[in-house]
Amino acid sequence: MNSALLKNATIITASQTIKADILARDGIIEQIGRHLDAADAQSFDLTGRYLLPGGIDVHTHLDMPLGDIRSCDDFTTGTVAAACGGTTTIIDYAAHAHGETMAQGLDAWHQRAEGKAVIDYGFHLTLSEFTDRTLRDMERIVEAGVTSFKVFTAYPGRMMIDDAAIFRVLQQAKEIGALVCVHCENGQVIDALIHDALAAGQTAPKYHPLTRPAIAEREAAHRVISLAEMADAPVYIVHVSSGAAIEQIAQARLRGVPVYAETCPQYLFLSAELYDGIEFEGAKYVMSPPLREKLDQDALWQAVRNRMIDVIGTDHCPFHFQSQKTLGRDDFTKIPNGGPGIETRLNLMFTGGVSEQRISLNHFVDIVSTQPAKLFGLYPQKGEIAPGSDADFVVINPEHETFISAITQHSIVDYSLYEGMRVKGTPEKVFARGELIVENGRFLGKPGAGRFLKRQRSSHYAR
Ligand SMILES: [Zn+2]
Repeated sequence: MNSALLKNATIITASQTIKADILARDGIIEQIGRHLDAADAQSFDLTGRYLLPGGIDVHTHLDMPLGDIRSCDDFTTGTVAAACGGTTTIIDYAAHAHGETMAQGLDAWHQRAEGKAVIDYGFHLTLSEFTDRTLRDMERIVEAGVTSFKVFTAYPGRMMIDDAAIFRVLQQAKEIGALVCVHCENGQVIDALIHDALAAGQTAPKYHPLTRPAIAEREAAHRVISLAEMADAPVYIVHVSSGAAIEQIAQARLRGVPVYAETCPQYLFLSAELYDGIEFEGAKYVMSPPLREKLDQDALWQAVRNRMIDVIGTDHCPFHFQSQKTLGRDDFTKIPNGGPGIETRLNLMFTGGVSEQRISLNHFVDIVSTQPAKLFGLYPQKGEIAPGSDADFVVINPEHETFISAITQHSIVDYSLYEGMRVKGTPEKVFARGELIVENGRFLGKPGAGRFLKRQRSSHYAR
């Protein structure tokens, strides 16, 4: 097996910054200290570089079926893109189809990932319906190492389950030590707004955000938090996009409700005027929740700063602009929802967070790696630099600048949400379990090297 000796790096973890060497053997950190030596190890001089634990993206949708199409990155192209962006672990949302057991859904996702993923991966299990066997199924899924579930208050008839069902799922999750992730938008009212828009001939992409207002997110966040409060269970709100939803989370935390929150770079960096782009350009940004206003961006950055946001995920769910987004050319409701982001999470957050002095380097590590590992039962195997942890590292040259572009990205999707943006923090080297898998934008790893991670219970339950 491999041995790597990383010399003279500035090691940044969520809690400290130290100058030291790291010796990794067989994919595990063996030793951290000054002046380490190992004649048999491949040595790297990292003077002037930051070395962080590998990024963990807990919100991805690779090779995801949606009607007759699929999100365009599979587990190889998607994880290569992740790796090149400094992410060494993903947790992807597996789902079961209506009528299928959760185990069948999970099997289908194992088949998609096995032999293809280049980095380690885990799964959440998304409930597409609530039936007699849902609560029993949940126990089996947890035993299979999938310790988090997702439910929707949006997409009636497709994914939405009602309040009593969400309440039952929350109760059961608490019982078996699982964490419930919730997509918060009021799906029924959104469907009514969509009906009205289409009836009025409003079919362009710009009607997507107008039919999914922030109030619909605020209402659902409030309701879901209340359900969690009544079930006395923790809850994790995915892709928080608005200041209105943040207010609900802040109030709940003041009451002592264990509500955890995630946002994504697109909600911190982009805003709704992009839907007014020429022609059909706005379709690139059609995702749910939609991009919001500048004021929401400010509220979200504030929430990142004061740790009301625990995790930065991406909701990476790419569809080609030229051949897939165009399905909705005459009807915005037929534009496949989702956008790419798996490759640009670390450099965007490094730039907007650390370079612009909103958060410290340690806080940056916390929200892109350590908190995701803790909340989703991977810590301290992942998300930490300590003896015994996996040797997953990102090496950053803090002075180096790059431009984001669809041409240089590794995802196969045909556009970028951030075309032309100047960023710092693009990884110079990435190590996954001690192997150098990325160097200066070049991918050196191999499909199938990624392992399925059986996850423990969320750190919430260790409190
Ligand atoms: Zn998602």
